[in-house]
Amino acid sequence: MARKGLLLILSSPSGAGKSTLTRRLMGWDATMRFSVSATTRAPRPGEEDGREYFFRSRAEFEAMVDADQMLEHAEVFGNRYGTPRGPVEANMREGCDTVFDIDWQGGQQIRNSALGRDVVSIFVLPPSIAELDRRLRGRGQDSDEVIAGRMAKSRDEISHWAEYDYVLVNDDLDATFARLTTILEAERLRRDRQPGLSDFVRGLNREFETR
Ligand code: ADP
Ligand code: 5GP
Repeated sequence: MARKGLLLILSSPSGAGKSTLTRRLMGWDATMRFSVSATTRAPRPGEEDGREYFFRSRAEFEAMVDADQMLEHAEVFGNRYGTPRGPVEANMREGCDTVFDIDWQGGQQIRNSALGRDVVSIFVLPPSIAELDRRLRGRGQDSDEVIAGRMAKSRDEISHWAEYDYVLVNDDLDATFARLTTILEAERLRRDRQPGLSDFVRGLNREFETR
């Protein structure tokens, strides 16, 4: 039966594990689409333009905002980040779910937009702040200064936890991933995400009448 695509927003303090969970989710269901954001930050080792992010200059980014090509945008850690609108609208038309790895500001903007009814939002918490620090360092991608900045911002990000539909404490990765897919499977079954149900029930009623 046809299904309406949903918008799965994952937010967390940096290092709590949302990129890891997102990557796994894309492998779990090949029909899901990752929303590739635009950013003015420099690529990290191994990141590719168009895969993790569209890496853009400030001027290019501003031009996208001015042309109303961003569904939401925000300043995070001194850089601009934003969600290009076109791919998200195309995914919805095609009945595909879109996954967003965005911060609380982006989450708020999409929830408050015309697409708000299609949003399922999940906040990912670390099991402890000590573990968050360990994970940021273990990732080995940022300097001490950048890590300190991200840790300082974590408290602010965490303060928005109650704005989300679901909260996952990412202790054991496999267990957290299992909870994530449980949420997704249940949300996909919501009545308003199955536009074909009315016709299906009409068919059942016709069958009653012809018995
Ligand atoms: P975020 O996208 O939230 O900034 P990442 O997904 O990059 O975080 O995860 C940060 C680091 O923590 C990575 O090295 C990742 O492999 C590791 N990590 C993620 N989830 C877990 C977990 N449940 N247990 C242990 N390490 C984890
Ligand atoms: P990072 O630089 O570590 O990839 O991301 C830093 C933060 O920016 C993360 O919290 C991430 O979720 C957020 N982010 C990434 N893309 C977007 C976006 O398009 N919009 C918003 N609002 N935040 C984003």
